[in-house]
Amino acid sequence: MSLSAPKAFAFQCIDRNRKALEILSDSIFYFGEVGMQERETAALMTDLLETEGFRMTRGLSGFPTGFMAEWGEGGSVVALHTEYDANPDNSQMSGLAERRPIVEGAPGHCEGHNVNAAVMVTAAVATKRAMEKFGLSGRLKVFGAPGEEQLLSRPYYVRDGHFGDVDVAIHNHIGSDFRAIYGMTHVGLVSAKFIFHGESAHSSTAPWKGRDALDAVVLMDVGMAQYREHMEPTMRIHRVITEGGQQPNVIPARAAVWWYLRDPTAAGVRKLFEQAKKIAQGAALMTNTELEVEVLSAVWPVRGNQTLAEVLQANVEAVGQPDWTDEEQALARALQEKAGAAPTGLRTAIPALKGPSPQRSPSNDCGDISWVVPMGRLNFPANVPDLPYHNWTAGAPLATSIAHKGGLAGAKALAGAVLDLFADPGLIARAKETFRAEIGDVKYEPLLPPGQQPPADLNAYMMEQWREKMRVHYLRDRPVFL
Ligand SMILES: [Zn+2]
Repeated sequence: MSLSAPKAFAFQCIDRNRKALEILSDSIFYFGEVGMQERETAALMTDLLETEGFRMTRGLSGFPTGFMAEWGEGGSVVALHTEYDANPDNSQMSGLAERRPIVEGAPGHCEGHNVNAAVMVTAAVATKRAMEKFGLSGRLKVFGAPGEEQLLSRPYYVRDGHFGDVDVAIHNHIGSDFRAIYGMTHVGLVSAKFIFHGESAHSSTAPWKGRDALDAVVLMDVGMAQYREHMEPTMRIHRVITEGGQQPNVIPARAAVWWYLRDPTAAGVRKLFEQAKKIAQGAALMTNTELEVEVLSAVWPVRGNQTLAEVLQANVEAVGQPDWTDEEQALARALQEKAGAAPTGLRTAIPALKGPSPQRSPSNDCGDISWVVPMGRLNFPANVPDLPYHNWTAGAPLATSIAHKGGLAGAKALAGAVLDLFADPGLIARAKETFRAEIGDVKYEPLLPPGQQPPADLNAYMMEQWREKMRVHYLRDRPVFL
């Protein structure tokens, strides 16, 4: 396939900026910031885009580490969006086939959202430069989405109208295959805390004076366990008790349980949430306590559009699979062995586009976007096949040449697809047509309660505990796009 002049120019731009992509990706790896606390990460990404000439909105929808960057005028509007958060206790040295934390107990990247961020920023820079050079009309909107591991930001962005003027959107995510996917790929979810308020008392001398909030949590748990038998087989519910009192001789005046309620459909999620609220109200009634429900996030299932998948896949094939060295393959096989997976090494071929993909049980907060505009999903090959994410093995490749080469290929495919969409409004019209057929008569209504504010302090305490210890490992180099 011969490349159009703007695309060839964008690919050259990405090759020339290989170093910037690598330093950006590795910098974020060493920042290792958990959801809502991605301060260094967001500052670096927004500075780079602003220097490049993008109009910047920081603190989007009340997310201190969220942003929207815009460039261009007229024509179609294409949105890019991705996440950049790490996970607790996932600190892992890169390039080693053994468990060795950078800082014992600290958060870290063990999936690859650091590479997601570098791919999106690099693709945005290259696309913008190609549009400028060739006088292409169109508007690029680049969204930074904090707290994906807590499924937070993008439903708020949709609710607040930031996708109202968008024609199509693309989400890029790390994987071990280089490919586009479409169909219903993830399930929907409500993440909510059920907080019970009672009254404390001495547990031995005057327990009759107390109203026990922990009792309510326990009874809600019993009620949910009984409900499991009557749930639909597609539903999943899981919880942790986040507050259960301080010591046994004080009846807890406050207790809380945090539930994730999932189903492949938004209607199923809504049904689960309504039932959970009834059970919680019942528990409050039984214990003379008061119930408070705090929704942390509420996301629709993710749906990938077929037309955009075809556009992305054509670009994946034009870019081609990275060539891996023997050393890279050896690291991949060693990690697979440590993870108990077959030592098949890194993939050497691009899988054909097939679909629709089967719907799997994780969720991603980009789901809401995929029901308001056609959304494409690009996987780029920057991690090793069959490693369990959020495990040290999946952290070990993330600042190596595997991540760098896979990220470079991903940035090209993403930039190439966006340039195709700007060059041919017919593609966007077709994406809208297939989108209408895909969603059928489902009407999008946010699962997020109206007026809901983002939990800006989430994970603040955890990150404060670790940031200074992690800072000594930050990279000294700063990415610069040439
Ligand atoms: Zn992810």
